[in-house]
Amino acid sequence: MTNEELKQFKASISITAVAQSLGVDVVRGKCRCFFPQRHVHGDRTPSVSVSEERGSFRCWVCDDVRGDVIALVQLLRDCSFVEALDWLMEQYPFLVPNGAKRPALNKDSTNKPSGASTASAPKARPAPVLQEMPPVEEPKELISEDERKKVILSFLKHLSPVDNTPAAAWLARRRIYKPVWDKMLLRTIVNYGELNRQLREEFGEEVLKYVGLYNDKGNLRYYKYPLIFPYMDAQRHSWYFQARAIDSSVVPKEMLLRGSVPFPYNMAALDGKPGWVYLCEGCVDTLTFLGQKINAVGIPGVRSFKVEWLNLFKNKSVVLCLDHDEAGRSGMEYIGKLFAQAGIRSIILGEGLENLPTAMKEGEDINDWFGGKK
Ligand SMILES: [Zn+2]
Repeated sequence: MTNEELKQFKASISITAVAQSLGVDVVRGKCRCFFPQRHVHGDRTPSVSVSEERGSFRCWVCDDVRGDVIALVQLLRDCSFVEALDWLMEQYPFLVPNGAKRPALNKDSTNKPSGASTASAPKARPAPVLQEMPPVEEPKELISEDERKKVILSFLKHLSPVDNTPAAAWLARRRIYKPVWDKMLLRTIVNYGELNRQLREEFGEEVLKYVGLYNDKGNLRYYKYPLIFPYMDAQRHSWYFQARAIDSSVVPKEMLLRGSVPFPYNMAALDGKPGWVYLCEGCVDTLTFLGQKINAVGIPGVRSFKVEWLNLFKNKSVVLCLDHDEAGRSGMEYIGKLFAQAGIRSIILGEGLENLPTAMKEGEDINDWFGGKK
């Protein structure tokens, strides 16, 4: 796991869910301190705040009771950073990037801080050792965040509508038609060489690499991913997108813009008004639902669902429609629990109807189910 992956892994875990699974009673973001003996009346009035948005906890009395989800596991299981991370990876295998191992740590960061002396530890229990990962080296900011968004927007403006292109034929085979292409501003790269030249002239290689449109060799990515799904925010502005291969021999099939996913695909469906919304995996499944006039949003995968998105779903009831396979099922169970904690009703698509002839079959996704051809 790289540092970036570790950040995402932590961000996609609900710290409240972890605390509860370890027997801590978290009520409205508060719980009793794990060291009641240090508090008056054994901390009858909870002193520890648990912040779902920040993924952290903190006791207002004990200075050393604070940290992120890993620190929480260290405290509650009385173990090292590495053991805590291993434990979390076991609990949430579907959030672990494929084949990722836990990050290697520097020798000097795996043990107790040099200043810690066992003599000063409280008698009841040794002082917990709370450690952070070695600081992540952020790339230097070449242009501001606003400028970065403008470059992405400009890239999207250079692209062509999909009409009469191979991308259109690809979409039509999946029963996704023009009204949906237009509504969701689907785009495609028609002349790769020309686009490469134009962008380079406009922004220069360094900026294009910085924003993630260009690879390290200095070429526009997406040569094999000509179908572009822009993510529109509530104002219908796009500064994030996902690219899709339309040649079936290309793996992986999809490519995300570098950086973290800012919000689910088709934010327009999350309008804060009461109603149902279908939560599915990927843009193609989302578009399939939209073609059926069903309100839907997409996430690139279980691992990309962020706890801070929960408030986007307020007033909604959610139908979970991730892929019908092992990862999809455990993912739906996990996301369902998160919704439940946030007071949002959710159900799993087709649950209880498995024996009907129309039920989704093992390994099927939404597009297959609606009759799309691969
Ligand atoms: Zn405390």
